[in-house]
Amino acid sequence: TQDHQSTLFGHPIGLFILFFTEMWERFSYYGMRALLVLYMTTETMGDARGPGLGWTSQEALALYGWYTMLVYVMSIPGGMIADKLLGQKKAVLLGAVILCIGHGVLVFTYTWAFYTGLGLVILGVGLLKPNISTMVGGLYAQGDIRRDKGFSIFYIGINTGSLLATLVIGFVVAQWGWHAGFGLAGIAMVLGLVVYVWGQKYLTQVGNFEVQKETVVDQSSYGLLFKNLLSSQTQLFITIALAAVSIFGWYALGWGFGLFFIFLTVIAALMMMIYKELDSQQDKDRFLVLLLSFIMVIIFWGAYEQAGGLMNLYADSKTDRDLLGMEVPTVMFQSLNAGFIIIFAAIVASYWANRKLKSKEASSIFKMAIGIIIMGFGFLFMVFATMEFEKEGSSSMLWLVLAYLFHTIGELCISPVALSFITKLSPVKYASLMMGVYFAATGLGNKVAGIIGESASELGEYAVFLGILVFTIVIGALFLMLLKPLNRLTHGAEDNEK
Ligand code: GLN
Repeated sequence: TQDHQSTLFGHPIGLFILFFTEMWERFSYYGMRALLVLYMTTETMGDARGPGLGWTSQEALALYGWYTMLVYVMSIPGGMIADKLLGQKKAVLLGAVILCIGHGVLVFTYTWAFYTGLGLVILGVGLLKPNISTMVGGLYAQGDIRRDKGFSIFYIGINTGSLLATLVIGFVVAQWGWHAGFGLAGIAMVLGLVVYVWGQKYLTQVGNFEVQKETVVDQSSYGLLFKNLLSSQTQLFITIALAAVSIFGWYALGWGFGLFFIFLTVIAALMMMIYKELDSQQDKDRFLVLLLSFIMVIIFWGAYEQAGGLMNLYADSKTDRDLLGMEVPTVMFQSLNAGFIIIFAAIVASYWANRKLKSKEASSIFKMAIGIIIMGFGFLFMVFATMEFEKEGSSSMLWLVLAYLFHTIGELCISPVALSFITKLSPVKYASLMMGVYFAATGLGNKVAGIIGESASELGEYAVFLGILVFTIVIGALFLMLLKPLNRLTHGAEDNEK
């Protein structure tokens, strides 16, 4: 069925429709995100860019942390809606429309508009992001070796959007003020919507709800799943135990901690219900290995996302940014990652594809474990940077560039690979939901990153960077040691890729 699609550069044309849709969506997301903290902390009077909200940086960072987490956690309901109600294609459309409205609302200067806009963006990304990613997988038949490369191409689209946005939006805001910046994000999203609607003719075979209906004989509802939970004592026990931790944490350690655990509880309960409901051992095993791989995902993003926080501050205040007599602006370091992705995505993908063709180890779990190690290794350069700072009073930019380089290569081994892996292993009727759970895991990782970042003011950067270095490499090594049994759980899902 998927074999008759017309192709471009050896891939279905639909891939390029999704590429440009997601490119513009990410332009709007990262463009707006880049402004968020700055806008919140700008004084309410006397700033050339227009009034900000006048918040303290602590208040702003707290909202930022919740926002970046929620945006991805909402991928779970977003995935469910696609699986049970709309199909992925319509869910993406609805998400795109909501995003246009959300960014549009942010153009207004009222406080209610700010919160409403953010809320709509959270809903919109939740509907769009997991489902467009699942659709990429749907373009390829099972065992098609192009799938991994397709996801790498898609990942280039993501980062082209983020690179363009972070390069352009600062100028727009400097020239015309905050709300012009938000408006630019909105225009980008409208372009994304236009591309998507125009390209529907290339997406006829993918993301449809009807296709799913045929494969699902017993349309299991989430209500039924919930009954299952109540009837299984172990599941009920684990859920209650986690809920107890949430409540305890809420009182003892604050509402933020409590809420974090409530999310974990809901996800865990949902996952246990689904596990029990799957019919074959093969489906159960694949589901399990997917969930185990998500442990790497949380840890990866928890370390990696220091980029916007601790490493950003480090670049700002402890790095000698003098280049040929000119000062390199701190924000430029944020563009390094996207730039490196665009340069290296194809190279990394080809490297793994060649290994696969030579029948060497190239399973997704292997790549992800290698990815987390390479990323962790990048923190070695941050350790060197802090050592140099201690001695010299400032540190070289080169350390940051090297750290971001390793982070990016690591990201390319784990992030597009995980997306592809999910579309290979998920049970059909929960395909979008599992993509949602993946993004929720990255969202939790974002939150973890914030918590680690905050601890640096007590522990010092040297200790934090060294700690991350050791921890991530140990986790990666652990997964490498468990590679054989983990791969066995995939039941050969990746064995015969041609
Ligand atoms: N930078 C990637 C994107 O925006 C990864 C985000 C994530 O997985 N949380 O798609």
